[in-house]
Amino acid sequence: MTRSLISLTALAVACLATPAMAQDWPGGARGAVVLTYDDAMPSQLATAIPALDARGLKATFFLSNLKPADVPRWRAVADDGHELANHTLFHACAAATFPADSRYTTEAYTVGEMLREIEQANVLLTAMDGRDRHGMATPCGQSTAGGVDYLEALRAAGLVTYVRGVSAEPADLAADVSAMDPMHVPAKAFDADVTGAEMIAWVRQTIDGGGMAVLLFHGVGGEHLPVSAEAHAELLDWLVAHRAEIWTTTLQDAMDRARRQAASPATLK
Ligand SMILES: [Zn+2]
Repeated sequence: MTRSLISLTALAVACLATPAMAQDWPGGARGAVVLTYDDAMPSQLATAIPALDARGLKATFFLSNLKPADVPRWRAVADDGHELANHTLFHACAAATFPADSRYTTEAYTVGEMLREIEQANVLLTAMDGRDRHGMATPCGQSTAGGVDYLEALRAAGLVTYVRGVSAEPADLAADVSAMDPMHVPAKAFDADVTGAEMIAWVRQTIDGGGMAVLLFHGVGGEHLPVSAEAHAELLDWLVAHRAEIWTTTLQDAMDRARRQAASPATLK
């Protein structure tokens, strides 16, 4: 995805959390935070990942429209323990979302074609990270192909372990992670002028009660829908300072943990 244009209304929305039931997170943490970064943007390699690595934090990167020269760098990101995840190959969105070649709008796809593209994106990810399971984020938070929602077909095909979207639905705020539908994992995108303190306040509110806070970033310190490098660093510093109470991890790790607990609540430590 390039600059300008994801529907700001689609992304400037709110979402996620899970206050209702206390989740048993590792180390007695009272909540989990997942930092997700979309679109394989250069500022993520240049700014976000060094900031994460300097603090020993792991995050999830939804890759799309990869540049050949960046492949070795993303492979190294995976080797360092971050999660690489599916964001389709070509990042098709609805034609009205932003200007795009008509072939690469969701109106031009069938459900079957979209699933084939998602499968091929998985093949690319496996070639980079050696892993055989991948999660996905829907481009522009949209899940239609040719006007048909493809999430149930994707679920039936078993191609991805979860689908992260974007949601402003108030009901999401009461979700229980262990009961969360993995095809509908909401995340919070912030406006470009968000401060570190505002993001921290949102995280605090979201994990109260033992939930999971999923944040969605694009550019960090520049590019598309950016947060400032300073605000990003302030959030990361706060997460490090609160390691004892907040588990910062990848989305796959958090989902796996929640699902294992749901399967056998007494056995997890
Ligand atoms: Zn995207």
